[in-house]
Amino acid sequence: MGQSPQSSETVPEVIAEREAVLLAPYAMQSADSAGRVHPEPTHPYRGPFQRDRDRIVHSAAYRRLSYKTQVFTGDLGDYPRTRLTHTLEVGSIARTVARALRLNEDLVETLALAHDIGHPPFGHAGEDVLDECLADVGGFNHNRQALRIVEQLEIRYSPFPGLNLTREVLDGQASRAAKKATTAPEASVPEDSPLLEVQVVEAADSATYDTHDADDALELGLLSLDELLELSLWREAAARVERQFTGLTPDELRRAVLHELLDWQVNDLLSMAGKRLAEAEMGSSAAVRGHETVIVPSRALAEQKRELEGFLHDRVYRHPTVSAMRVESQAALREMFDGYVARPELLPPKFQQRVADHGLHRTVGDYLAGMTDRYAQQEHTRLFRAAS
Ligand code: MG
Repeated sequence: MGQSPQSSETVPEVIAEREAVLLAPYAMQSADSAGRVHPEPTHPYRGPFQRDRDRIVHSAAYRRLSYKTQVFTGDLGDYPRTRLTHTLEVGSIARTVARALRLNEDLVETLALAHDIGHPPFGHAGEDVLDECLADVGGFNHNRQALRIVEQLEIRYSPFPGLNLTREVLDGQASRAAKKATTAPEASVPEDSPLLEVQVVEAADSATYDTHDADDALELGLLSLDELLELSLWREAAARVERQFTGLTPDELRRAVLHELLDWQVNDLLSMAGKRLAEAEMGSSAAVRGHETVIVPSRALAEQKRELEGFLHDRVYRHPTVSAMRVESQAALREMFDGYVARPELLPPKFQQRVADHGLHRTVGDYLAGMTDRYAQQEHTRLFRAAS
């Protein structure tokens, strides 16, 4: 970790004692945190990462995840994951892995709950259109936007903007922004390896969406079980299930395969991590930086995951039903972007005040990115349809 501004925050005894007993040497100890940009007093019983977790949970950006698209918009019904339920699934898997490896669960949970708060409305369709609209001022990326939210846009404390999170949480999110998560072990860059807690969240995100996007697509009838069984990952998971149970109905098989897929991926991550940690003998969280990525799937499983992801990309994310919604939501977002740029007086006062320092385009992008799918649709109708 780099040098930090002097912080007056220390770790409450109850947390320090707990971590001393429970955490592995390579885990991030709260006592080793590089602190916050704006020093704060020590909390009587919450550690720094626990406070960060709570700040995310109480933020407006986190609450809005419940009305943001994961892959399928609410128009397709209430079964598919939202950004919020995806986030909670990632948090759940990440905590399981962290606990098994004796890592810092508070830090892992904070990173997991924050990892997608930068997503604009309409999922990747929204992200792509904002990236085009903002091309002249650096583009748009949901991982970078999450940092803008926690560093500037959430206003919760009077002495400073943002949530004033610890350096470790900011660095963890920045590492997501710097490079897209990869499932390929050979792609790791040792000198850049983030903390193991950060690596766990990356791996949990991948394990989660590979599983639940397929489940949502099955439920919506965009895919059939037979089509998925053509993929090596699903075939092997189904074979593992059928060794344990016989006579399953297609519905029972599907649920059992989904369970198996998560279990298999987590077991694989833990087994790979166990080997790599044993070889590396890392004695501190700082030693992680010089080693290749530890929390990665085995080469065989990574290959099977890539096959599934390619299939989901072609068959689900580009399914005509999904594409039609993509076109419609992108047109609405673009129309709103152009509309607010032409008439900045329509922006809420909080955003109008940011224009002088941050430019009109970036400010409009920040405002639009904070909207839920539902609010964006309402505002689009109110401002750009009602009058015409
Ligand atoms: Mg995610």
